[in-house]
Amino acid sequence: MRALIVSDVHSNLEAFGSVVDDAKARDGFDEIWSLGDLVGYGPDPGACIDLLRDHQHQGVAGNHDLASIGELSLEAFNSHAAAANRWTAKQLTKDQFDFLGELPLKLESDGFTFVHGSPRDPVWEYVVSVSAAVASFLHFDTQRCLVGHSHIPFICRPSEDGAVFLEFPLDTPIALGDDRMIINPGGVGQPRDSDPRASYAIYDSEQATATHHRVKYDIPKTQGKMRDHELPEFLAERLAYGR
Ligand code: ZN
Repeated sequence: MRALIVSDVHSNLEAFGSVVDDAKARDGFDEIWSLGDLVGYGPDPGACIDLLRDHQHQGVAGNHDLASIGELSLEAFNSHAAAANRWTAKQLTKDQFDFLGELPLKLESDGFTFVHGSPRDPVWEYVVSVSAAVASFLHFDTQRCLVGHSHIPFICRPSEDGAVFLEFPLDTPIALGDDRMIINPGGVGQPRDSDPRASYAIYDSEQATATHHRVKYDIPKTQGKMRDHELPEFLAERLAYGR
């Protein structure tokens, strides 16, 4: 079984479509695993939900998903994100709205725990520090955990000092072995590691590997739609820089 692992699609249909096409062109996949924030920021929330649902899929909710359906207060978001979430809420059909509302915050499948933020706080916590990683390892029962939220790809392993963050190298299958591990596939629709290409991972259960890939997408097209919908200019501009 091969799973396409995506996080933080953020209503960016050009990015998500390019990821799906790129994964199909490599060796294909059997299902999509989504780590949340399908919507928010970008111009195509409904189409991104539909593209996920066109495939076999499993997934969890992120903070933007919950905010867009009124389950999290917009006061917890900065003004750009809140404006985009308010706009997103008006774009969704009842069916798409209900789909977001039914996503769990945490799920376990194939030896992985899926969360958006961290296993300790799936909605808000960023796993970006050693202390958060150490706490995270105490909060899941499976061998491995998949997280998103920071839009930064990494592999994290337990170490003598607690935990160590490692680069998730491109196009190189990582043997998962018996070690415990936290993996972030990076962000599809709004990368923040200074590489504007959409980021994703493939899990291959037979090889027991995870592989990180990046793919270019039509950034000006997404930006044009954001401007047409009068979404915050800052959110359009940052896509070009991957920050
Ligand atoms: Zn996000």
